Amino acid sequence: MIVMKFGGSSVANANEMISVLNVIKNVVDKKVVVLSACKGITDKLEQIAIISADKSKNFNNEKENILNYIKNHHINILNSTLKNYLAVATNEVQSLLNDLENIVQGVSFLKELTSATKDAVLSFGELLSTTIFHFICKEQQLNSVLIDARTLIYTNDNYNEAAPNLELCSQNIKKEFSKINPDLVITQGFIGSYNNGIIRKTTTLGRGGSDYSAAIIGAIIGAEEIQIWTDVNGILSADPRCCNDCRTIKQMSFEEIKDLSFWGAKVLHPKTILPAIEKNINIKVLNTFNPTNEGTLIAAKNEDNLFKVNSVIAKGNCILNISNKRFLTEFDNENVLYSGYCNRKYITLLNKNNFEFNEKFPDIENFIDCSVICISGANFSNNSQKLLNFLSSIKCLENVEVLQIIFEFSFSSVLLVIGSCDVHKIVDEISKNM
Ligand code: ADP
Ligand code: ASP
Ligand code: MG
Repeated sequence: MIVMKFGGSSVANANEMISVLNVIKNVVDKKVVVLSACKGITDKLEQIAIISADKSKNFNNEKENILNYIKNHHINILNSTLKNYLAVATNEVQSLLNDLENIVQGVSFLKELTSATKDAVLSFGELLSTTIFHFICKEQQLNSVLIDARTLIYTNDNYNEAAPNLELCSQNIKKEFSKINPDLVITQGFIGSYNNGIIRKTTTLGRGGSDYSAAIIGAIIGAEEIQIWTDVNGILSADPRCCNDCRTIKQMSFEEIKDLSFWGAKVLHPKTILPAIEKNINIKVLNTFNPTNEGTLIAAKNEDNLFKVNSVIAKGNCILNISNKRFLTEFDNENVLYSGYCNRKYITLLNKNNFEFNEKFPDIENFIDCSVICISGANFSNNSQKLLNFLSSIKCLENVEVLQIIFEFSFSSVLLVIGSCDVHKIVDEISKNM
């Protein structure tokens, strides 16, 4: 069995959903299809939840606009994809929309949005997309079974960022799957549930959490492969929104993806694929709109000992402190990007965004504004000369103030801490040199 997860851009609209259908039709294995909400819908749901509770102003028009937008978006997909199942699917979708509207009215009435209620609102994106896709499959005579992820993914009560209880998830998934022995299961990513002793409440695993759902399910059923289908050819050498010349990385280690996402690449959150890595299940990142492209394989370790530079990512708005004594005594602050000892100096890198200086971090004068460029790849530590050669081949760095090079960040990355400059230009050049 394989797990195929399709992100929001892959189920954005009717045409995209048909592309997903074509991808899964070409797969002969039994499969679990995990879907995100249609692109942008979770943001709209979050917006409506927040404004409904806002006491400062009456947001009735905005609320109505958002509800209409959500309704029209999903009804339009139904109208353009279904014929035989149109009536029954429209009924089900309308019933979900009614539930959503009732919850939103409740929030408006009480002017109170608890984190549990927020999760209930956010869950409608995935509930709607999966319901629609299930009927698209039926219309095409695919024998799909839609399973509500809240009966599978039991979590704790940390609403908005709930942690799954893997033992309970395992029991649920094995029980549900043994009942039906299905060829094609469709379920929601991102959502789960928690029993507070009275009722079972909806939870969510954190934004972008559908990848996590796919990895949990894949690890539990012992999937042959977990496929993350998105709107680019795989993990790319740089963020395609900032860099014109990216290439697809054929294979990368788990550590590399961890570093990439730590420095801001949105494509895959490492936490989310941990269950699969622990079970040594291959993860592939593939393009729904270019399905024959081979994509990126993410494996626990690199297969060979070859030195490779794979990717580059930049993070602006950082600050750097270099001193003779250790600056930080506590390392758990989320703004601490790096803290270590290089060349007999203590190096501290902080994220300046939302950063407040307090007793723990007193002296801003000793911090320099900087950007960090993270270059990742394979077998850096046993090929230091090759790495130095690579760094010296980056010509545009000659005109830039390189404040610090940090080799100790991880086994698969080196950090260049640089002063103010055109970071995109450097990223572009590094990407071309790879
Ligand atoms: P999905 O909707 O499929 O979950 P996401 O938006 O979460 O997709 O992630 C895919 C996006 O991540 C891409 O469209 C791309 O713009 C962005 N991205 C950022 N950095 C990278 C990278 N290094 N490789 C691939 N995609 C990246
Ligand atoms: N729909 C959710 C989000 O937008 C989860 C996901 O897409 O992974 O965050
Ligand atoms: Mg995503």
